[in-house]
Amino acid sequence: VLSVDEAQDIVLKNITTLEAEERPILDCLGQVLAADIRSTITIPPADNSGMDGFAVRAADIAGAGPQSPRILRVIGVIPAGSSFRPEVKPGTAARIMTGGVLPPGADAVVRFEDTDARQRPEDAAEVGILAAVAPGNEVRRAGGDIQAGSLVLAKGTLIRPAEVGVLASVGKPRVPVYRQPSVAVIATGDEIIDVNRPLPAGRIYNSNGYSVAALVRRYGGIPRRLGIARDNESTLAAKLRKARGVDMVITSGGVSQGDYDIVRRVLAQEGELIFWQVRARPGKPVVFGMLKGENKDGSPRRVPFLGLSGNPVSAMVNFQLFARPAIMNMMGRRNLHQPAVQAITDDEIENTDGRRFFARAVITKRDGRYSARLTGPQGSSLLTSMALANGLVVVPEETRLVKRGETVSVMMLDWNEGEPLPGERSQALSSTHPV
Ligand code: AMP
Ligand code: MG
Repeated sequence: VLSVDEAQDIVLKNITTLEAEERPILDCLGQVLAADIRSTITIPPADNSGMDGFAVRAADIAGAGPQSPRILRVIGVIPAGSSFRPEVKPGTAARIMTGGVLPPGADAVVRFEDTDARQRPEDAAEVGILAAVAPGNEVRRAGGDIQAGSLVLAKGTLIRPAEVGVLASVGKPRVPVYRQPSVAVIATGDEIIDVNRPLPAGRIYNSNGYSVAALVRRYGGIPRRLGIARDNESTLAAKLRKARGVDMVITSGGVSQGDYDIVRRVLAQEGELIFWQVRARPGKPVVFGMLKGENKDGSPRRVPFLGLSGNPVSAMVNFQLFARPAIMNMMGRRNLHQPAVQAITDDEIENTDGRRFFARAVITKRDGRYSARLTGPQGSSLLTSMALANGLVVVPEETRLVKRGETVSVMMLDWNEGEPLPGERSQALSSTHPV
């Protein structure tokens, strides 16, 4: 049986980054640039003032101080965006606002606070400068942020809010990014029913179809929910054929060794079965392979197929291990690691059968250190325990017992340290611990 690492390698070997598409920058949040972005403009475009004050010749005000003001003649006002460029000759100054372009002759700015301007009318013909400054003082140089022709964001950069802003600043309303994968989500099981229907005795609602679709969306894919296939090969095969145009197919259920566990057989029929078990707990039965798919023009292609266990927790944990990196890789992400922290465990954790154990836990910060508390019983059908958890304690295959107080590695599902419980007071921002 494959280790988690071996299985992850196999999955990623069968995944390729999708083609690029051009999109409006705000829609690209969370996607990856598919080309280098160079600026055609210089930012700032000209030397300009970093403060509200007076543009001066630094040499004019050498030796100025609170007790020895230098009086300069005011030749005009330069607001930001103005094209007024009065020449600052010796003995003169221009009133200038933050962002105003430095006028010819001036080589420094003295902020209002270091002048007597506030004691004079706004249109006073003179100003007293109360401090000497060096040339360049409070001047933002042309090109100080970006030079025309320079590389501003490299191909492969993840687009976060800052990158959206940088792209706007260099005048790019649309950019090429790697396409988001569309992922078919199919539940299997004769007992499963959609949440929009009344619940007959003996049936259960399709939670996996929703939790898996939510995970697809969380990690950047576009879920296509294809509903529920019954536990016979022909209805599952029919649903898979409907999914031909997608970039990945994820099913849940039907991967163990029961009488109705048909997923492996259908996959072998409709494509290629690559593996079907992994040394993970929860989630030992998990199927991976490639389906025979079809491009828009009818030409053949291979579509990655992941068959998750029906147990709701196993499905979610296996998604984290295999589908998350696959989706991120399709989108051109290069760091596929799940964020992890070291934490001190409050609970003893047993691991008996040589599998890598992912134990649901609540991670909190106490006295500057992370601590991990298990959510309670770890049965793979207990979906509410997944809702309580913000991380998974990873117990290595060879570790039999983790004792209380030992340090463990935790795969974070969420950086949120949790909302306060009902009745608990919410914390003021200033009292939370910095990470
Ligand atoms: P299976 O992998 O098909 O043997 O299913 C394992 C367990 O997960 C069974 O108890 C199923 O009823 C349950 N299960 C399977 N599919 C779903 C689903 N879509 N939503 C919630 N529970 C499911
Ligand atoms: Mg089933």
